[in-house]
Amino acid sequence: MDKIKKLISEKEVKERVNILAKELYSEYGNSELVFICTLKGAVFFACDLLKKYKGDARLEFLRVSSYKGTKSSGKIELNLSISKENIENQNVIILEDIVDTGHTLKFLKQYITDMNPKSLKICTLLDKKMRREVEIEADYSCFEIEDLFVVGYGLDYDQKYRNLPYIGVIEK
Ligand code: 5GP
Repeated sequence: MDKIKKLISEKEVKERVNILAKELYSEYGNSELVFICTLKGAVFFACDLLKKYKGDARLEFLRVSSYKGTKSSGKIELNLSISKENIENQNVIILEDIVDTGHTLKFLKQYITDMNPKSLKICTLLDKKMRREVEIEADYSCFEIEDLFVVGYGLDYDQKYRNLPYIGVIEK
């Protein structure tokens, strides 16, 4: 196993995710929310957030792929879809692991918008704002990070390191 330099600790992640759960609850109150977890990267984020969210919640999964190794290709493929009846007229939150160039999020936002949700917001765990190639922003972003390739807490490098409880950078 490579040496991983810790960037955001398990405690920091949990605390920030708990705050987000409270923010979402205060915004959506008693109405039902449909959370869409984007596989595989956002799975730990979605689990921790939903466990702390006190309102009525449903959970759906989407799977897209855009990444080869450490470079984004800009080409998005949908590998697992959602049926329109689960989205139409619902308050929907997309949960993303990280927004980098923005291509994936733009694609996802359009895909869900086309299903006519009542409302749609985006929450991302991590945000690399300076890397954007398309104009798109998350409504809620837990941590803004520098231009680093990060792993852990669901994020992988060639399918490894998702199981780290913290977020870190591989040391060369
Ligand atoms: P975008 O389309 O915004 O360039 O890329 C978004 C996707 O690329 C993320 O959902 C994630 O799967 C992957 N990605 C972007 N940056 C990183 C990173 O630093 N580490 C890992 N593990 N994946 C990343």
